[in-house]
Amino acid sequence: MTSTPILEVDAIAVTYSQIIPALRGVSLAVPEGAIVALLGGNGAGKTTTLKAISNLVRVERGELTGGRIVYRGQDVARVEPWTLVERGLVQVLEGRRCFGHLSVEENLLIGAFARRPRKAELKAALERIYAIFPRLKDMRKTFAGLTSGGEQQMVAIGRALMARPSLVLLDEPSMGLAPQVVEEIFEIVAALNRDEGVSFLLAEQNATVALRHAQHGYVLEGGRVVAHGAASELARLDVLHDAYLGGVPVDYANVRRARNESRALAV
Ligand code: ATP
Repeated sequence: MTSTPILEVDAIAVTYSQIIPALRGVSLAVPEGAIVALLGGNGAGKTTTLKAISNLVRVERGELTGGRIVYRGQDVARVEPWTLVERGLVQVLEGRRCFGHLSVEENLLIGAFARRPRKAELKAALERIYAIFPRLKDMRKTFAGLTSGGEQQMVAIGRALMARPSLVLLDEPSMGLAPQVVEEIFEIVAALNRDEGVSFLLAEQNATVALRHAQHGYVLEGGRVVAHGAASELARLDVLHDAYLGGVPVDYANVRRARNESRALAV
């Protein structure tokens, strides 16, 4: 990694309900303007890592018990989530989390509140989102709950973009979506990254699609990073094929081998 990281996570540990360890010393970095994939199976710790960064683990009775989280050069481990949003760090939660009884446009407007924009500014922000997701413009008066899974994911990402983020934490954007829709979502993420310089840390079980669009990747297993490196190199690791592509249970000998291989990779 050559450019300065916009985010550095250094050996963080998270425990739920004071007894359930979820993260056991996770370290990662997101260079400014990069897409970084956080890979792993169910329960590996991907969501917890994102929520620790955005300071949302507390909502789930989770506690950051160790480590440092540095965003734009400042320790933000105790900074409130809404302050992080104001500073440009925004999370798109797993499962889309749209307000089903509000219209698509009302859902988008919620995302802009942190900036307290003027009316004209708000209109311009909405038009920007509709330019990125033209489909949402046609559906702007529709209840979000009546739109498809792919459209709800677009609403969730659009709502995050209304806050004008520098870094988006995107949790499982592919979850429950058809391959064609997943591709569409990832193309939009890639375009936002390329054209607007938005950095992404995206948690995914779908390693194939994530590594196709990311520059770097980290593999989590049991709350630890077991492999990391350039996406092109990581995609070649057998462990990813075994664990996430072929649906075969993780073989820990493979994980150790992958970890050794990954030490040779530049991050
Ligand atoms: P998934 O893709 O299934 O969401 P994940 O990689 O995002 O998996 P996490 O949701 O971060 O994994 O879970 C990591 C560990 O923490 C798991 O063992 C999980 O059971 C536990 N965990 C997650 N949330 C809570 C919670 N609110 N209370 C207690 N334990 C939790």
